[in-house]
Amino acid sequence: MGLTFTRIDLHTHSRVSDGTQSATELVDEAAATGLDCLGLTDHDDTGGWDEAAHAAEQAGIGLVRGMELSTITRRGSMHMLAYLFDPTNRALTELTAEIRDSREHRAERIVARLARDYPITWADVLAQSGEAKAIGRPHIADALVERGIVADRTQAFDRMLHPRAGYYEPYFAPDPVEAITLIREAGGVPVIAHPATVARGAGPDDDLLHRMVDAGLGGLEVWHRLNPPKFRAHLMQIARAYDLIVTGSSDYHGAGKPNRLGESLTPPDQLERIAEQASGVPVLQPSKSSWPM
Ligand code: AMP
Ligand code: FE
Ligand code: FE
Ligand code: ZN
Repeated sequence: MGLTFTRIDLHTHSRVSDGTQSATELVDEAAATGLDCLGLTDHDDTGGWDEAAHAAEQAGIGLVRGMELSTITRRGSMHMLAYLFDPTNRALTELTAEIRDSREHRAERIVARLARDYPITWADVLAQSGEAKAIGRPHIADALVERGIVADRTQAFDRMLHPRAGYYEPYFAPDPVEAITLIREAGGVPVIAHPATVARGAGPDDDLLHRMVDAGLGGLEVWHRLNPPKFRAHLMQIARAYDLIVTGSSDYHGAGKPNRLGESLTPPDQLERIAEQASGVPVLQPSKSSWPM
C-alpha cells in the first residue's frame, strides 16, 4: 500500500454527531497538532465525509473516512468503528437512517422525562444539536449547560444522563454480529470501539467474541483512555489469538469531553492492515502537488 503516516488518530467526532467542531475545524486542528492522518468517525452518520476530505486535502494530511456504528447486546451498548466502507451501500444507509430516527425520538422521550424536574425543552436541545442528525445525550447535556442547570457535559452525564439516573431511554441499534456482517458487505473494516465499555467493564464474553470474529470482526481499539492498563493487556492477548488489528485513538469530541486530539495513536502497520482489508473507499493521501517544493 505504501502509506507513510506516522501520527495517526483514527477515532474523532465532528458536529455531524456529538463533537463540537465542524469537520473542517477538526481537520485543521489535527494538522496543527502535528497529526498526519485523521480518522473521522461520527456516530451513525457519514455526513461529514465530503467536507473532511476537502479540508484534509487543503491541510495536507491523510484522512480515513469512518463511522462509529451503534450496536446493542444483551449486556448493553457496544460501539463499532467502521472504516473505509462504501457510503452508498444500501443496507448500511438504511440501517443508519433507522438508528438516527430512533435516536431523535428517544432524545425527545429523555427530554420529556427531564422536563418534569428541570426547566428544559425539546427546542433547547434542537438549538444545541444544530445540523447534527445523529442526536445523542451530549446534545441534551449541552442544553442543560446552556440553561445553567449543570456546568458541563460530564456533570450532566454524572447527574442525569447515565443509564441509572432515572431519565434514560434506549434507542434502536443492531446486534454487533449483524453490524459486522453489514460493514464487511459494504467493503469496510469493523473495529470494536473502547471495548472496556462493553458489558460494564467486562468486555465481550467468549461466545460473543467468537461469533463476532466468525462474522468478520477486524480489530480492537486497544489504546483508548477508557480501557484500563490491565484490560489493554487482555485485549492484546485476544488480538494475538484471533490475529486482529489493534488501534489506538483519542475519541476526541472537541470541547465536549476532556479527551485531547492525538492522546492515543494507531501504529502505522495497523493502519496498513485496515487499508489492505478495505474495499469501499481508499485512505485519502495528500496529493503531491500540495507538498512544499
Ligand atoms: P448516546 O449516543 O446518546 O448514547 O450518548 C453517548 C455519547 O455520550 C458517547 O458518544 C460519548 O461520547 C458521550 N459521553 C458519554 N459519557 C460522557 C461524559 N461523561 N461526558 C461527555 N460525553 C460523554
Ligand atoms: Fe460521542
Ligand atoms: Fe463510542
Ligand atoms: Zn466515539
